[in-house]
Amino acid sequence: MKLKVAIVQINSILGSPKQNITKIQNLLSSKLPSSSSSLDLIVLSELAITGYNFKSSTHIKPYLESPTNYGTSLNFAKSLSLKYKCFTIIGYPEINVEKATETIYNSCAVFDRKGELIYNYRKTFLYETDEVWGSSENPNKNFEPIILNFDNTEDSSSSKLDNNLNKSIISNIGICMDLNPYKFEAPFNKFEFSSSCYNNRSKLIICPMAWLSPNSPSIKKQEDQESPTLQKLSSEQYQSHLVKEAQEIKLPNEPNYETINYWILRFFPFLKHPYSYYPKWFSQNEKINVLICNRIGKEDSIIYGGSSCILQFNNSHEIEDSIDSSNSSVEVLNPLCQSVEGIIVQDIDL
Ligand code: GLN
Repeated sequence: MKLKVAIVQINSILGSPKQNITKIQNLLSSKLPSSSSSLDLIVLSELAITGYNFKSSTHIKPYLESPTNYGTSLNFAKSLSLKYKCFTIIGYPEINVEKATETIYNSCAVFDRKGELIYNYRKTFLYETDEVWGSSENPNKNFEPIILNFDNTEDSSSSKLDNNLNKSIISNIGICMDLNPYKFEAPFNKFEFSSSCYNNRSKLIICPMAWLSPNSPSIKKQEDQESPTLQKLSSEQYQSHLVKEAQEIKLPNEPNYETINYWILRFFPFLKHPYSYYPKWFSQNEKINVLICNRIGKEDSIIYGGSSCILQFNNSHEIEDSIDSSNSSVEVLNPLCQSVEGIIVQDIDL
């Protein structure tokens, strides 16, 4: 079966929802001039509309929303689903109120072709930035699959005539840090997220991200700790040093393969490699698609790494030793640049 998917990569400006929405609308209409273009799925990044690097729970508070009380992010995602009659997946900051207790989550909502919110996923493994703005972990750590039914025939009797009857796809959602070892402490080869996807027999894996560039000054702390000049700075001075460094960095206009290869490595269970899982449960005609929707841009000392792409795993080659994009059992489709906004519109085989 085939799906047409759109992955939108923008520089989400912190606290400027209107601006971010306009950018997404413009990118979509640049590639899909008519809303009747038969699109199946739009993927937006982690906290795409609000920006990600909030300073505290008070700072993020005006942007929190919930499946029972929509704000800018959910209303916008719903409007996209209605406009394009497609599924929309959007990252947004959630507030859940239960028995007078408020809990914040880094979440992702799934809207169906009719604009109904059918699923709400909460990020399971948190990154340090999530904790700064008070996000809680998803208490359910099982990475449960969801079934997305992509059937687009309005009349169910005519769908019976359709050759492609079974349009229900087992899917998984993982938000950014979910791909990493839990707290960077779990064994690297536990592959918590991807082995769950593998065991769930998920064929469509959707990853809204705010993944950092390997050149982000915010993660270069080790070298700095060894520098005698930087050791003398107060923590505020050191922070402004990092922000200045981030401002000066200019990333090249190309995808970052260090990052893409790391993502491939984190999906090791799907790769044909002597040490990977066997036998593969998917046939030679089937493909597993990982839709990676990252963002670009800078927020203080953080630089995001773009390089949104589709990782497509197949079972039609011999086992090979490489664990990167040179392994023939994975294809990197349409990678975007690490420093430029853009959109992927791609027909994928499943
Ligand atoms: N470890 C990831 C990164 O380096 C996590 C970021 C996130 O969860 N937003 O980008």
